[in-house]
Amino acid sequence: ARDRAVEALTRLVRDIPDFPEPGIVFKDIAPLLADGAGFAAVISALADLGRDADGRPVVDKVVGMEARGFILAAPVAVELGVGFVPVRKAGKLPHETHRVAYALEYGEAVLELHQDAFTPGERVLVIDDVLATGGTARATCELIARCGARAVTFAVLMELGFLSGRAVLGDVPVEVLATV
Ligand code: AMP
Repeated sequence: ARDRAVEALTRLVRDIPDFPEPGIVFKDIAPLLADGAGFAAVISALADLGRDADGRPVVDKVVGMEARGFILAAPVAVELGVGFVPVRKAGKLPHETHRVAYALEYGEAVLELHQDAFTPGERVLVIDDVLATGGTARATCELIARCGARAVTFAVLMELGFLSGRAVLGDVPVEVLATV
């Protein structure tokens, strides 16, 4: 599954220079999502990261970050047979939340998570499309910890290796399908 996913990423993710700001090369996954076999391959490869050698799920929940993380994390949760939890931008979640502010590769952001999203001690697979500076990932892992749960793996399709984002993630294991 992983080989097929890497092939699909290489072929179907396109670079958009200077979006959303000059100097940023945006990794656009729209062509990948629009390809049925390619999308299935990356979902399958991500789901494998949430299973043990016997194919049993080793996580209780899958978290995705707004917005592209949702698109990847939700089908992974269904494939694993576990629940999905959204991490959202400020002001979107209706119930009581935890909030974390952080700096982005471009701009600044606040992320929120419902306080009752997890049962204490739950193990969480966190999924996003791109790991850049790691700020989004770190804020998400902190939100999960505040809820009494634990991020056991942070998984992305692509890592922008030159930004060393995984360094800010501390001891949360990072899984990357492709380093670009
Ligand atoms: P960061 O917090 O810097 O690791 O940024 C990661 C978040 O921003 C992820 O949710 C990505 O979807 C998005 N992002 C950052 N840089 C890029 C990029 N060059 N191409 C596509 N998405 C990006």
